Amino acid sequence: MIDMTLCDTVLLDMDGTLLDLNFDNHFWLEFVPQKYAQKHHISVEQAKQQLIPQFKAMEGKLEWYCLDYWSEVLQLDIAGLKAEIAQLISVLPHVMDFLQALALSNRRVILVTNAHRHSLSLKMEKTCLQPFFNEIVCAHDFGLAKEQQGFWKILQQRYPFDKQRTLLIDDSLTVLNSAREFGIAHLLTITKPDSKKPVREVMDYPAIEDFRELIAQL
Ligand SMILES: [Mg+2]
Repeated sequence: MIDMTLCDTVLLDMDGTLLDLNFDNHFWLEFVPQKYAQKHHISVEQAKQQLIPQFKAMEGKLEWYCLDYWSEVLQLDIAGLKAEIAQLISVLPHVMDFLQALALSNRRVILVTNAHRHSLSLKMEKTCLQPFFNEIVCAHDFGLAKEQQGFWKILQQRYPFDKQRTLLIDDSLTVLNSAREFGIAHLLTITKPDSKKPVREVMDYPAIEDFRELIAQL
């Protein structure tokens, strides 16, 4: 497990770490195919067959997170559609307690997300998490996704942190691999990023199902 006494900077991912990934999974895998099917007069099944391979092909690339990119490619108002189902945006269990305890512990807390600024502001508006972060870093501002080494280099230049005393919590193993390659010493993942899906088994990194384990250490 992670020893929080060794960490004075905490980097937190947003979707699937603090926020329920169910929103994003539902949005991309159900809601967008429905709207795409309506627009093109095809069945939802046909829409899924066309769209899901396109989504897969862009995974891990910055465009995958770019609402403008998908609005252009799919000819749908992606930001508008997100707002339509914004009531599904929710924080994962015990996140609020964790962020409150973290704030009281005087650690530096930085949100690091690949999400587009539009998604980010919609999610901050719905969840009111913004005050808990010393900085909010959006990968689009650097033009590089967290999967890329360049992201971490720019992050460290702009917001200097000691790699040996920094913890990153992220549900994406690809992102954790990238952070490990950069040299961030403490890495932790989430086994239940989507509340509607079963717990996943993770072998490569220490993992928590929810934040209670970490709160106990603060
Ligand atoms: Mg994530």
